[in-house]
This record gives sequence, C-alpha cells and structure tokens, in this order.
Amino acid sequence: MKVHQHFLINLILGAVFLKLTNQPVSGLSLTPFLAAAVLTDFDHPLTYIIKIKQIKAKTVVEILDDYKYNIQRFYLFHNIEFALFLTYITWKNLLPLGFLMGYFFHLAADGVRHQRLKKNFSWLRKWSVCLNFLR
Ligand SMILES: [Zn+2]
Repeated sequence: MKVHQHFLINLILGAVFLKLTNQPVSGLSLTPFLAAAVLTDFDHPLTYIIKIKQIKAKTVVEILDDYKYNIQRFYLFHNIEFALFLTYITWKNLLPLGFLMGYFFHLAADGVRHQRLKKNFSWLRKWSVCLNFLR
C-alpha cells in the first residue's frame, strides 16, 4: 500500500478515534497517528537493504513510496510480536496511545489489502516471528 494511502487512512481513522474518545482533533493530536502511518513501512526498505547489502537512496524512497512487489515476506514491524512489544511500551507510557492506534490502523489496512490480493490468510504466517522462524 502506498504511503499516501496509509497517511489518509490514519488521518481519517485517527480523527474518528479522537472524536469518539472526546479528545480535540488537531494537527498536533493527529501527529502520532500519521507518524505510525509512515514509520511502520520503514521495514520494507530496511529488509531490502539487508538483502542486497547496499543503500541507494532512490531505491529506498521508491520502496517506501509504493511497495508494489506484493511479496509475502517477514518484515520487522509487521508482525504480532512487534505489535505486542509496542502495546507493552505504550502500556508503560513510553509511547503515545495515538501511535499504537495508528500502528494498528496501518496493520489493519495492510491486512485488508493482503486479503484482497491473496483471497486467503496465507499472509498471516509471515506476520509472526514464531510461525516464520520456529517451524
Ligand atoms: Zn505496511
């Protein structure tokens, strides 16, 4: 999914979440949602860099902007164990709740996209460290 699509989804869902929880909707209050929208996909270029062992800024930006390859692969920030870690550090007040909610909005949007592409839940296996590496 493209970065601007995640940005728009998190903008809308973040505003709805803030409204439903009686919090002010402003640029500042939406910032954690929008940061999560963008930062979550930094594992795509990171995975690419680790795989090819070189850094090309243009390629990194291209991968970040549109991960069009649709390859089912393990990504550091797109798995249940990382989600549990983020939930834990949010619970310990080390992250704003908006960032965690934005992260889950991002994962949900990716999940819907993968479900539409694959027509099954095979992609879920790649979204777990345990299922990926402990087979
Ligand atoms: Zn993503």
